[in-house]
Amino acid sequence: MFSAAMTPADCAGKIRRSKKLAVLTGAGISTSAGVPDFRGPKGLYVTRAYDPETVFDIGYFSVNPAPFYDFTRDFLAMLETISPTPTHLFLARLEAGGKDIGIVTQNIDGLHQRAGSKRIYPIHGDYSTARCRKCGKTVSGDDLAASLKASPGVPACPACGGVVKPDVVFFGENVRHLDKCLALAAESDLLLVLGSSLAVHPAASIPHHAGGEVIVVNRGPVALRPAEGVYLADAALDEFFAGVESRL
Ligand SMILES: [Zn+2]
Repeated sequence: MFSAAMTPADCAGKIRRSKKLAVLTGAGISTSAGVPDFRGPKGLYVTRAYDPETVFDIGYFSVNPAPFYDFTRDFLAMLETISPTPTHLFLARLEAGGKDIGIVTQNIDGLHQRAGSKRIYPIHGDYSTARCRKCGKTVSGDDLAASLKASPGVPACPACGGVVKPDVVFFGENVRHLDKCLALAAESDLLLVLGSSLAVHPAASIPHHAGGEVIVVNRGPVALRPAEGVYLADAALDEFFAGVESRL
């Protein structure tokens, strides 16, 4: 069992007192924006019949990148229709208001960036850059999106014609920024885990490096072992943090 349940009022008090705040976000922070949880019952893989074993497998991509780009066209088109959630915006306002805050995210949807947060570590990468797998030329995410709209199939490197791959972390690739993320957690006096069931490593290991208390706000079960100073709220994020912000 967790040491205690957490209320928005208690959470607000802990955020107010925090001098170094670390935040870990998972798919659950983006579901209210309309981003499907890839692995959930209504996930994109199920509804659109994408198979994660092929879409995000680097070995498969090397042989046939077409399924990944089918997914990516749909995913980027979907992102154009949505906006950051109230919880993304709340975190950005905390930072803008002078709070020392760093955000580690498992998401590749770019919503923290669009919300205005500055100190973000996307451990699974994102679509903001891409590079040619043959010559290494870097392509901006905007240029990649434009070429995906302009022509069907797999986009080719403008320099050498090789296959371009967005800087999204695939199965079989190392996550980004892990050392920085672990240091961020260790130096923090409060770690908020938002919308993650902590089922996927290495994100799941980050709370174990926390230097202070940990508050997990997530709908549903969480894979975190009991410990002193670990609090859980089984709650909808936007509602919970509206309650938090009104008390700050
Ligand atoms: Zn190239």
